[in-house]
Amino acid sequence: MIKIVKQLKGLISTPKKIVITTHRGPDGDAMGSSLGLFHLLKQLGHKVNVITPNEYADFLHWLPGNKEVIIYEENEAIAEKITAESDLIFLLDFSDLSRIAPFNNTVSKSKAIKIMIDHHQDPDRNIAELIFSDTTACSTAQLVYQVMDAMEMTTYLNKPIAECLYVGIMTDTGSFKYASTTANTHNIIAELITAGAENTKIHDLIYDNSSANSIKLLGYCLNKKLRLYPENNAAIISLTAEELKQFKFKKGDTEGLVNYALSIEGINFAVFIAEKDGAVKLSLRSKGNLKVNEIARKHFSGGGHINASGGVSQVSVNETIKIVEHIINNLKN
Ligand code: 5GP
Ligand code: MN
Repeated sequence: MIKIVKQLKGLISTPKKIVITTHRGPDGDAMGSSLGLFHLLKQLGHKVNVITPNEYADFLHWLPGNKEVIIYEENEAIAEKITAESDLIFLLDFSDLSRIAPFNNTVSKSKAIKIMIDHHQDPDRNIAELIFSDTTACSTAQLVYQVMDAMEMTTYLNKPIAECLYVGIMTDTGSFKYASTTANTHNIIAELITAGAENTKIHDLIYDNSSANSIKLLGYCLNKKLRLYPENNAAIISLTAEELKQFKFKKGDTEGLVNYALSIEGINFAVFIAEKDGAVKLSLRSKGNLKVNEIARKHFSGGGHINASGGVSQVSVNETIKIVEHIINNLKN
């Protein structure tokens, strides 16, 4: 660690052109860690751009720096040019280039030095020269703080950085409740609040800011779309494109929905299936030892964390339900 901290410190000791990118379907940790690092590097005098592969949920649009984010799918030419000219590329909250498609080819072609900061399992060590990977870390935002601390740069911690990192840690720990939340996480959160992160305001902006349609969609899912398999401690919620259209679905509207299924007494495996952008996406969650990342990898060309993973299915929603039911039947508790 000390060696790569020194290397990174050396790399950012003179003004550089820097790109920060994060995974497709950016979530709170993806955007929080990216924009937190963005505000640090800007203060150090670098030219910095955050480029996301695609759009992200409205509830993240209040994040400081949001207006400067370049969305690859909407500004391909600009994103290509900036990336081609960059000296450094930070890869945040992912460790497999397929996670940033369709931006992955541009990044892999680039001659820039790549720095990965990530907490996912089995990082692909060929995609970056410097790798800060800690699969026990609750969030990439926490790792960004720790890298900052290791570089003795917490003096640069200001309100924008604190707000962004707070969002990343809060969202990836399910508001500080997952097993990955440690005393150190709380110590870091204390530093972020001291630096200006207004915790109540942030919780409100992220969690109590839902559209009426998304709450109605939630009600519909719980009332009509929840399939329970009590003998296997499992649950599935699914939505077709048509149903999403009916509720005027917007990105982010189904975020966290899978957790309702997991919150039911006796359920320790929950799957959410939704047909979005012409693909059938899955969110898998578990409690305890059931490794949903292995299930995601084996059946749905996906991956993620032990208790929270995702993937895609090549067949219809109904056929995907059948595959998941088959997996559920074969679960040996
Ligand atoms: P979500 O269910 O919230 O979309 O994703 C949960 C976690 O699963 C994410 O933090 C991410 O690590 C992982 N994940 C989601 N979708 C994919 C995917 O398509 N491929 C891989 N490798 N990981 C995914
Ligand atoms: Mn994360």
